[in-house]
Amino acid sequence: ARRFDVAAIRADFPILSRRVRGDRPLIYLDSAATSQKPLRVLDAEREFYLEHNAAAHRGTHLLAEEATDAYEGARERVAAFLGATPAEIVFTRNATEAINLLTYAISNATLAGSAAGRLRLGPGDEVLVTELEHHANLVPWQQLCERTGATLRWAPVTAEGRLDADRLAHLISPRTRFLALTHQSNVTGAVSPLAEIVKVAHDAEVLVAVDAAQSVPHFPVDVTQLGVDFLCFSGHKMLAPYGIGVLFGRAELLALMPPFLTGGSMIEVVTMERSSFLPPPQRFEPGVPPAAQAAGLAAACDYLAELGMARIAAHEEELTAHALDTVGALPGVRILGPGTAKDRGSSVSFVVEGVHPHDVGQYLDDLGIAVRTGHHCAWPLHRALGAQSSTRASFYLYNTHEEVEALGRGIREAQRYFGAGT
Ligand code: PMP
Repeated sequence: ARRFDVAAIRADFPILSRRVRGDRPLIYLDSAATSQKPLRVLDAEREFYLEHNAAAHRGTHLLAEEATDAYEGARERVAAFLGATPAEIVFTRNATEAINLLTYAISNATLAGSAAGRLRLGPGDEVLVTELEHHANLVPWQQLCERTGATLRWAPVTAEGRLDADRLAHLISPRTRFLALTHQSNVTGAVSPLAEIVKVAHDAEVLVAVDAAQSVPHFPVDVTQLGVDFLCFSGHKMLAPYGIGVLFGRAELLALMPPFLTGGSMIEVVTMERSSFLPPPQRFEPGVPPAAQAAGLAAACDYLAELGMARIAAHEEELTAHALDTVGALPGVRILGPGTAKDRGSSVSFVVEGVHPHDVGQYLDDLGIAVRTGHHCAWPLHRALGAQSSTRASFYLYNTHEEVEALGRGIREAQRYFGAGT
């Protein structure tokens, strides 16, 4: 196998050669928030605008045809990347919109009554989530329960910041209709044993929706192998542009779903009184589609697939192990989440005793090290782990072991500066 050549990869990301804060090399450790973009992706988007720009799915002219081909070609590319069929790939703005699409489709199915029995939700029914969720995969389900009168329940995390899968299995009851859970926590990095959980859920006829915003970018994810019913992610965390995300839904389930947003391009017949809707995925994609962003996402899939997702995952695992050793060994620093890199992704959140995360973040920023601070849109999880907030370093294919070392030195320096960790 070819060597995983991080230097060559870094050359594809010009932003990583920037010097910042008094001519220091930029050390970007915030890819869990958003990744950087390789030239290949930027070129794909630019080529679309330079040569093919037109409204996809509209018009009969050559450019419109090319734009449609770019958009639908991207759908095929993403489907292949995930082990799905193109009709099961709905393009959205991001993971957040994908989850809202799904949850509003469920309450719309409930309102509509008859057709979509499997999706209906009402008083007495339960939706199960977990304490690990990003707000994007919690608040929409809370709101869905409010709209439908269903009850929200949640599975707790362990002290190690993992999903308590046994407790989750016990919380599944004959009343449970949906299980919504994250594949990999954006805070603790914990990866949940999805295939096992899906089996338990399906045995109880529970539909499973997965927030894969932190998994699809980082390791091989095959929706067919996992057997999930719905799965979503954002392009911008996997080298693609902003403004494009995906909702995967199994074909027979998408077919049952009423639309969320309505308007042009998703209709079959419109009269002044009523409208009928196209089959999926068009039913869920009203308006002129983001074809340039889709072309960028397709290029990102190509880039990742050519490097190999398993090799990317292996590189990240090494970086994560190194970071856990380095940061975890500092006095007065507590890692939130599993202490070893096994079944754990590359989000490494930590609390520095006696130093506020914002101070840690600012100190590191002065050294040219970009991390994230706060509750990372996972407030309940922080509460469960007994932390107000934390500092998060997150790694991706372009990060190096030298950068991990610099992070460790930076935290130590911050501790000295703020008189902590002695
Ligand atoms: N879920 C998880 C686990 C995330 O990390 C994020 C992004 N922080 C989201 C959902 C939401 O992604 P977006 O903001 O791109 O919709």
